[in-house]
Amino acid sequence: RERSSVVERDGSYTWFERAKSVIAGGVNSPARSFRAVGGDPPVVMDRGEGAWLIDVDGNRYIDYLAAFGPLILGHSHPQVVEAVRQAMAEGPLLGTPHPSEIRLAEELVRAVQGLEQVRLTTTGTEAVMSAVRLARAFTGRTKVIKFEGAYHGHSDAMLVKAGSGASTIGTADSLGVPQGVTQDVVSLPYNDIERLEEVLSRIGDQVACVLTEPIVGNMGIVNPAPGYLQKMADLTHKAGALLIFDEVITAFRFHYGSAGALLGVIPDLYAMGKIIGGGLPAGAYGGRRDIMDYVAPLGGMFQAGTLAGNPLSSVAGLATLQVLREENPYPRMDRLANDLATALLHLAARHGLVASVNRAGSGFTLFFGTETVQNYTQAQQADAGQFAAFHRLMLNEGVYLAPSRYEAWFVSAQHGPDEIERTVQAADRAMAHIMQG
Ligand code: PMP
Repeated sequence: RERSSVVERDGSYTWFERAKSVIAGGVNSPARSFRAVGGDPPVVMDRGEGAWLIDVDGNRYIDYLAAFGPLILGHSHPQVVEAVRQAMAEGPLLGTPHPSEIRLAEELVRAVQGLEQVRLTTTGTEAVMSAVRLARAFTGRTKVIKFEGAYHGHSDAMLVKAGSGASTIGTADSLGVPQGVTQDVVSLPYNDIERLEEVLSRIGDQVACVLTEPIVGNMGIVNPAPGYLQKMADLTHKAGALLIFDEVITAFRFHYGSAGALLGVIPDLYAMGKIIGGGLPAGAYGGRRDIMDYVAPLGGMFQAGTLAGNPLSSVAGLATLQVLREENPYPRMDRLANDLATALLHLAARHGLVASVNRAGSGFTLFFGTETVQNYTQAQQADAGQFAAFHRLMLNEGVYLAPSRYEAWFVSAQHGPDEIERTVQAADRAMAHIMQG
């Protein structure tokens, strides 16, 4: 279906006006707003179908958001829908142990190398927060090292950005985070092993954990430099600290298992989320059994959740994992993502736009105005204005991209060559438009 460049979105505007009067900023998560891409009202979506989103005005969009990562099988996969329907009929919440949460935990432990035991949570935020608390409990230390531009959920300690200069004390990225929290968190540049080594040599004996995404998804996709993660693991362990991989995005995104295993580095603890809940609320943390023994009720580290391991999330996650295991869509998704990313780079060159792509499997980020992005400082140099224009033009072409230049495009198992081809044609027109000013 050909699209006109002027799209009616009156329904979206009306709904968003209603949203703004009762929901803070009109959105239940800031990343859904369009503030980073020019400030238009966001599109209000009615439903999803496979690789497509359909808004309340009936406009259709090829979806590269994947709800920020979970929807690796696209929208409303029949096996996931059926599993949830059945679980709903049998009681969505029991408040007791039940088989589907145990099956999901078994499947995670089977699939994720180094995950000897797990605890299910309701969000990725909780998974990371709990893994960090556990690392502190196990080591008896307080300091946490993480990396600039990383997002690990919105718990207090994770909202700390780098301090100035050689400081090893972070400052908060949010109001309301007390200094008592930020003073224990150190944020370092990603892909810079010397900085990590230097900081660990100074304060290593106070460090409970080093926390990172093995492949960064939250400053746009940024791959670790060759050997970087292994050196990070070695330095971390030499300091007596634990290595935590935040695999909320990356677990099961690139292959059937963790990104750590794919890259040959197994952390002491993992945090996971997104895909393992199949689009329903879910997270998980776990790893070495001797560390997990510290978690209540066996141990003294407290963590809990009314909705943790609930039947709906458990069966949605299980159904998603089952499809991924049986159908192995990874090579096909990777190929499509590579085709698309390569075509976008060619188009940019043809239109005279400076651009670069970082890709990991079925996820990639197209950065405008910069040739290499290996850390947050470089990601920030990507052209915000060009991305905002591109985002708006692609939206009008019927392509839904995450509304931030720091996010990934995700190709799902429901995307096919037709969606990719339409996207390339849309990008061709959008880039031509940008260059015409
Ligand atoms: N860690 C990472 C790497 C994430 O990408 C996210 C969410 N974008 C989180 C943690 C937090 O997960 P949630 O939004 O489910 O709390």
